[in-house]
Amino acid sequence: MAAGNEDAKGITVKSERELDLMREAGSIIAEAKAAVKDALAPGVTSLEMDALAEEIIKKRGAIPSFKGYQPAPHMPPFPATICFSFNEEIVHGIPNDRKMQMGDIVSIDFGAIVEGYHGDSAFTAGVGTISASAQKLIDVTAESLAEGIKKAEIGNRLTDISNAIQIHAESGGFAVVREYVGHGIGRALHEEPQIPNYGTPGRGPILREGMVFAIEPMLNVGTWKTKVMADGWTIVTEDGELSAHSEHTVAITSKGPEVLT
Ligand code: MG
Ligand code: MG
Repeated sequence: MAAGNEDAKGITVKSERELDLMREAGSIIAEAKAAVKDALAPGVTSLEMDALAEEIIKKRGAIPSFKGYQPAPHMPPFPATICFSFNEEIVHGIPNDRKMQMGDIVSIDFGAIVEGYHGDSAFTAGVGTISASAQKLIDVTAESLAEGIKKAEIGNRLTDISNAIQIHAESGGFAVVREYVGHGIGRALHEEPQIPNYGTPGRGPILREGMVFAIEPMLNVGTWKTKVMADGWTIVTEDGELSAHSEHTVAITSKGPEVLT
């Protein structure tokens, strides 16, 4: 859905029972995220981090969302539990034998399914000591997500979220990725609507209680433009500059935005 579309059709509204299953998926993801964040270190591979996340998700009785995920017939199914993206990689990096090095920044995306309901969350963190500019990128990305989440209120419009993210990101000196966006989430990993991380406020569907969104700004140091690597999955910045990603699954409730992950 492009920003400005006023048609709210196709956005599912979750019952309290469905929200409880999504809360459980979110809590499993939060546990996996914390464990992986603690284990990040020079010399550790992204595949080891994938095994750690998968162990936690399965131990708690959930299913990894991304493993085997195939958004289009021309794409290979995603082969791992987490997406693990180094430095200029924005999203969808495939875990492998690459070892983290001091000064890297890594963006890690987690998905879990509980009784058919998905959660989706990502963070970027530094490995050991990182540059002040890389730390600022990470901080402004997380803050931009927080600004977007504040707008996930009953009665607001969808692009109020988009605009809040863009304003914070660009005032911090960073560019917002255009081609990849947030999304509705529930029985499917990607549901309506698409949630761009930029745009004019006051457009799109009116937000209602029980909608659940994966809000996920991706910020670049240089150009917002991206390209896809030969593996068909890994998205990198066109200019090779650093990128960061921050994502939560957020329910719109009568008490305000509820972060599930
Ligand atoms: Mg994600
Ligand atoms: Mg997502």
